[in-house]
This record gives sequence, C-alpha cells and structure tokens, in this order.
Amino acid sequence: MMLKTLLLHRTTTIHSLRCKFNTIPHREMTTGTQSIVSRLKSSGLLQTKGLIGGKWTDAYDGRTIEVNNPASGEVIASVACMGEKETKDAISSAYEAFGHWSKLTGSERSNRLRSWYNLLMEHKEELGELITLEQGKPLKEAIGEVGYGASFLEFFAEEAKRVYGDIIPSTLPDRRVLVIKQPVGVVAAITPWNFPLAMITRKVGPALACGCTVVIKPSEFTPLTALAAAELALQSGIPPGVLNVVMGDAPKIGNSLLESTQVRKITFTGSTAVGKKLMAGAAETVKKVSLELGGNAPCIVFDDADLEVALKGTLATKFRNSGQTCVCANRILVQEGIYEKFTSAFSNAVKDLKVGNGFSEGVVQGPLINEAAVQKVESFVQDAISKGAKVLAGGKRHSLGFTFYEPTIIGDVKNDMLIARQEVFGPVAPIIRFKTEEEAIQIANDTNAGLAAYLFTNSIKRSWRVSETLEYGIVGVNEGLVSTEVAPFGGYKQSGLGREGSKYGLDEYTEIKYICMGNLG
Ligand code: NAP
Repeated sequence: MMLKTLLLHRTTTIHSLRCKFNTIPHREMTTGTQSIVSRLKSSGLLQTKGLIGGKWTDAYDGRTIEVNNPASGEVIASVACMGEKETKDAISSAYEAFGHWSKLTGSERSNRLRSWYNLLMEHKEELGELITLEQGKPLKEAIGEVGYGASFLEFFAEEAKRVYGDIIPSTLPDRRVLVIKQPVGVVAAITPWNFPLAMITRKVGPALACGCTVVIKPSEFTPLTALAAAELALQSGIPPGVLNVVMGDAPKIGNSLLESTQVRKITFTGSTAVGKKLMAGAAETVKKVSLELGGNAPCIVFDDADLEVALKGTLATKFRNSGQTCVCANRILVQEGIYEKFTSAFSNAVKDLKVGNGFSEGVVQGPLINEAAVQKVESFVQDAISKGAKVLAGGKRHSLGFTFYEPTIIGDVKNDMLIARQEVFGPVAPIIRFKTEEEAIQIANDTNAGLAAYLFTNSIKRSWRVSETLEYGIVGVNEGLVSTEVAPFGGYKQSGLGREGSKYGLDEYTEIKYICMGNLG
C-alpha cells in the first residue's frame, strides 16, 4: 500500500517537487537487482550525473531524483536533478564544440560514430539490462532496442560521408549556381521513456553525422540508459561538448533550451501536448523544429486477409512494449465477415502472453511505466464498457500488482469512445467492426493523429488503394513491425513534423545554402 502511494506520488507531483535533497530509497533493491546494478557500476555504465562539456556533473544545488524499477518499485539510483543553470552551461559547451566538430570531414565524424556504434553493440546485454531495469520491457525486447538504436549510428556514420549539395544549371552564362548543406548548429534533443536509447540515437546519429552538436534531455523516468550511452560516446572518441546530457526539471530545462539563441534546432519525441508547447516556444527564436508525437494507429483487418498473418501482425503491433509505443495499433478495425473468427483467435492468443518482470524467462509483457499510465488505461476501459463495449480478454490490473495490467481485448468498440479517440498507451486492443472498405478508411482517417496505420489483405489492388488513401506517415501492409533505420519515420497531421531515420533524416539537421558565383565570363 505504501509503495502504491509512493508510486502515485511520483507521477502526480509537479516536476520541481520531484527533485530531492539526499533522497532516501523507498524500497531496498533485491539481491538480484543489486547484482545487476553492481555489475553495471563496475563496467562504468551506471552513471548518475549529467554530462556537460565532457565532465560528469552534479546538479549545482545538489538535488537528485530517483529512478525506479517499474516492475518492483525498487529505487535503482538517484541521478542529478538539473535545471536552468546546468542547461545553459550545456548549451555553451555544445556551442563551443560546434566550431571544431562541424569542421571535421564527414569521414572523420563517420569514424567516431562507427566506434560509438561498435561500443553500443559490444555492451548490448548490459544496456538491455539497464533498459529493463528502468523502463520495464522484457530483456529480449530491451536488447532488441539496443540493436535498433545502434543501427541509427551505423546508418548515419555511413551517411556522414554523403551530405551532398547540388550544382544547378544557371540561367546566365557567366554564373554558376551551387547549393551546399551545412549543419544547423546546436541541437536540443528531448526524448521520452518508452525507447530510452533508440529515441536518442535516432536524433543524435544524424545530428552528429552532419556536424551538429547536441544537448540531450532524456525522460526523468529513464535517464540511466541515456547516461550509459553518453559514457560510451565519450569512450568512442566523440570530443567533449559535442554531446551533453542534462535531466531533471523538464519545464525549466525546456525553457532554457527554447530561449537560447545558440540552440538552432529542437527535436522532440513525446506527447502531442508537450510537442505543441515546444513548437510555440520555438517561434520566439525561430528555431528549426521536428516533432515525433502521439499516434492513434488503425490496424485494418479485411475479410480477404490471411488470418495467421493478420493475427501475428496485430499481436506484434499492439502488444510490443506492453502497448507503449507511438506506432502501436490503437484501434483494430475488423471487417464483419472475419470478425468472429479473428476476435476469437486474437483473444486466445492474448491469453497466452506471459506477464511479469522483464528479467523472468518467457515474459513478453512487462509493467506499465507508472501508476498514472495504469490509471489512464483503467479509465479508458471503463469508459468503453460504460458505453456498451465488451471485454473479451483481460480487462483489469494484473494480480502481480504494481503497474502490471492484463493484456486486454475489448470488442464492439465505437470510434467515438475515448479509447478510440486517444492513445491508450497500454496493453489494450479495442476492436471496431466495419462493413465496407470505404467505411474502414473513413473511420481510420477520422482522427487528428496520423503516424502509423496497418492493413491486412491479400488483394494487391486493395493494398495500394488503401495505403494511398490513409492519412498516415507510415503504412504497414501485411506487417505489424515496420520500424527500421533505412526508412523515414514520422507522422501526418498532429503526429508531428519532419522525419527520422533514412536519407531524409539528415535534412532535419542541415541548412541549405545557395552560393551564386557571378561575373565568371
Ligand atoms: P512526454 O510527457 O511528452 O515527455 C517526453 C519528454 O518531454 C520527456 O523527456 C519529458 O520530460 C519532456 N517534457 C515534459 N514536459 C516538458 C516541458 N514542459 N518542456 C520540455 N520538456 C518536457 O511524453 P512521454 O509520456 O515521455 O512519452 C509518451 C508519448 O511519446 C506518447 O504520446 C507517444 O506516442 C510519444 N512517442 C512518439 C514517438 C514518435 O516517434 N512519434 C515515439 C515514442 C513516443 P520528463 O519525462 O522528465 O517529464
């Protein structure tokens, strides 16, 4: 009970109150956790200070903030709780380092990024353990995130050598028209807790590749992975000041980043509400902005789908990271001819998903990040039930306690229910029945979000028709897991601005300069 109260406290108090002097751990670590933590400490990967100008730095007023294991409530570490002053110093360090880093050749920057990639891969098990400890996802999935996260460093290490410009045919004989791409400058990267590593490397990889320097602000829930990655960046020879990490009081850090004229770019992944605030705040200094925000992904299963493929794909997209990804299916639209067969097979499959501590063998569903997340899921489920939806599997907190929630299927959902209007961000699959392709498209597009959508069909014509009509930045056809470093990731409508990953990802960190050479005749 006490633990529950403490977890609640953690999620409901305002930021400035979360930072504490000499924090006393609420719950002792078990011996199992202790041994993982001491192993990480001895390998130098458990850092608890911010990184400013290449130096591990305490908060200037000595405040700290606890990092919990969501599966057990254990306090894993206390990290520096920073604010305005530390952020300003981090910006100055990044600004200073920009002079040198941006002048290196693409190939020199490529080598450093490649070394960082190698180190992440060498330490993928330990980094995976860190992710499971602070974020909760099952170890196998966490190690998978390390591989995915590292792939952006490898990809952009290669792209660092290919930041090409153009020579444009001139309209005048004695002129030459050239275009070069230059790094935008100091980049502020604000990242969420659901992918503590990959959301950082997807931004920092391209930023560093083209010559920018960065100030990273990881989520207060998962700073340890960011700090471990930063330690490996230092070890890989990325010079001091090129990569800085501050964490703690999010609004204060955010405001300092927004106000600074030295910060030329804000790149953010997180909720749409915070993204809108940052976009408005960036207007004052007219910064370049890219936003990866919330989704409301439809997953459409047509009558002509291959049932096995649709089941596998829907399970993967819905229950990955316990439903806590921006591209998780948020609404499952099933055509009436296959509705009964699909929902019954889907409910059976979901009952087999093993829930538990991410370190336990066979677990595929970890806890939710915090108590607030569970309460949100509960309220969405209650709203749906009160409006006529039916629970087909799960539907309540898991008997394991803490922030575990049963993998859940809800049938007879309507698109105007809360659960279909907003991201549930939990292991709940709401199923909506539809009759025609037109109706499915209308329902799917009836949202302000536009990140990812999925469809399952055996018709090539329908695949094209529906893919092109969906108002989404990413469409998975007969596939539930679509994220890769080589493809552009990003959303339409209020799901964001810009793209991450792929060759398009570099454009977000460059300015285009037109050089006109005249009087050459
Ligand atoms: P969030 O609450 O918006 O937080 C994201 C980041 O913003 C965290 O580092 C947070 O810091 C920081 N933050 C909060 N308030 C701030 C402020 N006033 N100024 C500056 N920074 C501020 O989102 P979340 O709950 O961590 O993440 C879940 C959301 O991210 C979901 O909506 C999900 O869909 C979205 N997401 C999108 C993508 C994508 O690629 N489109 C990928 C992953 C997640 P603290 O945590 O320290 O408060």
